[in-house]
Amino acid sequence: MHPKRRRLKIRRVRFVVFLFGLLLLGGSLLVAAFDNQNQHPTSSTPSISPPSIELKETQSLNPPGLALKETKSKRVYSIVIDPGHGGKDPGAKGASGSYEKKITLALSLKVYDLLKQEDIFDPHLTRTDDTFIPLEDRANMANNMKADAFISIHGNTYEDKSAGGTLTFYRYDKSIQLAQIIQSNVVKAMGFRDRGVQNDKLMVLSLSNMPAILIEVGYMTNPKEEAVILGKEGQDRAAHAIVDGLKKYFAEHPQKAVFYNGSSEQKQLALTFDDGPDNKTTPKILDILKKNEIKATFFMIGNRVKSYPEVVKRISKEGHAIGNHSWSHPDFGKITMKEVIKQINDTQNQLNAIVGYRPSIFRPPYGALDKDKVLTIHNMGISIVNWSVDSMDWSGLSVTEIMKVIRKEVYPGGIILQHSAGGKNGNLDNTIQALNQMIPELRSQGYTFVTVPELLNIPASLPKTAGLPN
Ligand SMILES: [Zn+2]
Repeated sequence: MHPKRRRLKIRRVRFVVFLFGLLLLGGSLLVAAFDNQNQHPTSSTPSISPPSIELKETQSLNPPGLALKETKSKRVYSIVIDPGHGGKDPGAKGASGSYEKKITLALSLKVYDLLKQEDIFDPHLTRTDDTFIPLEDRANMANNMKADAFISIHGNTYEDKSAGGTLTFYRYDKSIQLAQIIQSNVVKAMGFRDRGVQNDKLMVLSLSNMPAILIEVGYMTNPKEEAVILGKEGQDRAAHAIVDGLKKYFAEHPQKAVFYNGSSEQKQLALTFDDGPDNKTTPKILDILKKNEIKATFFMIGNRVKSYPEVVKRISKEGHAIGNHSWSHPDFGKITMKEVIKQINDTQNQLNAIVGYRPSIFRPPYGALDKDKVLTIHNMGISIVNWSVDSMDWSGLSVTEIMKVIRKEVYPGGIILQHSAGGKNGNLDNTIQALNQMIPELRSQGYTFVTVPELLNIPASLPKTAGLPN
C-alpha cells in the first residue's frame, strides 16, 4: 500500500469517527438541555456542565468547517470490483463455449487498472484469479473496508440466442443513481440494447452497505455480443465506460450519510426551520423569507403536516425545500428500528400526498441517531442533515444572544438551525426578530442563502420509482 494513501485513509476514518462523535454529542447535549428545562424549570444553574466541557474540547481540536475542507480536497473513494462467479462456479456458458467467470475477471482487471490511475479512487477486487468466493464474503469485504461503491460485473444468458442487451441491477434506493449512470455509459459504449436498471433482491447487493450494483454487460449466449465482450477492444470500451461512470457519479454525489454543512468554497448558507408547520410562527417566517427573496428549508413533523396542509402547500409553492423531521418528534435513540422506519415513511407519505414528492432529506429530532439507524436511513436513499450553527432559538434566548451565536458560528457552507413552531411556552418571537436582523447582516458580509439540497448539491426529492424498504 502506498504510504500516502494510507495516511489519507487514517484521516478519513478519523473524520468519520469525529462526525459520529459530534452527532451523538450534539444529540445528548440537546436532550440534556431539554431535560434541564423540563425537569428543573426553577433551577438557576444556566450551564449543562459535563457535556459542554466535552464539546468545547471537540470544537477546539477540530472545528467542523476545517475538518470538512481538509477532507474534501483529499477524499479518496474506495471501490470494490467484483468479478462474477469463479472457481467451481463458471457462470454462464457463451455461444462459442467461453466461460462467464473468465470474461468477468478479465474485464474487472481492466476496470481495476483504470481506477488505479485515478487519484480519487482506491480500487479493490473480490478475486484476482480463478477462485470460488461465496457471495456473502464478497459483500462483507466491501462492508468491512467501508467501501464507497460496489460493482459486480457479469455476463447474461438466455436460451434464445438472439436475446441481447445491457442490464444493471440495484437493490436499495441509494444505489439507483449509480446504476443509472453506469448503465447509460455502458449502453453508449457497447451499443447493445438498453434493458434499463432493475430492482432485484440479489444477495450480493442486499448485503452491501454502500451503493451497490450488478451489471450484465451483454448476453454471452448472443454470438455477436459474446464476440464483442471477448475481444480486447470491446472490453476496453466497457471498462472505460464503467470508470467514467464512477467518476461522474462521485462528482455528482458526495455520498455521505450525515451532513453538517456544505462546501466551504462558496459563501453560501442554508437557513433551516424545524418542528413546523403551525399557523402562528411558520407563516411569519414565510413572510420574511418572501420579502427578502430567500429560499430556506423546512424540516417538518408529519402530524403537523397533516394538521396544517395549507401551510405546507404555501412552503412548497414559494419554492422552499422540504425535509422530513419524523412523525411525532420522538428521540430516535430510544425507539426501535421498526418505529424509526414507520416515523419516516408515514411522514414521507403525508408530504407526498400534499406536495407530490417525497423529500430526500431527513433531520432526526434532537439530532440523535445511532450508527445502525444512520445506515438504515441511508439505505432508504435519504440524506441525514444536521446543522453547523445551532441558534438555540427554541430555548428562550434573547435576540442579542441568538445573534451572538450566529456571529460566532457562521462560516461558508453553514447550515443554521432555527425553529418554525414550538419554542419556550410556544413563543418564537425572538426567532422572528433575530431572522429580521441576521438576513441583512449576513448578506452585508457577502453571504447568499440557498436551500439544503442546493447547498449539498443533491436532489430535493427521491426518485418517483423508489420503493419503500421492507
Ligand atoms: Zn425538532
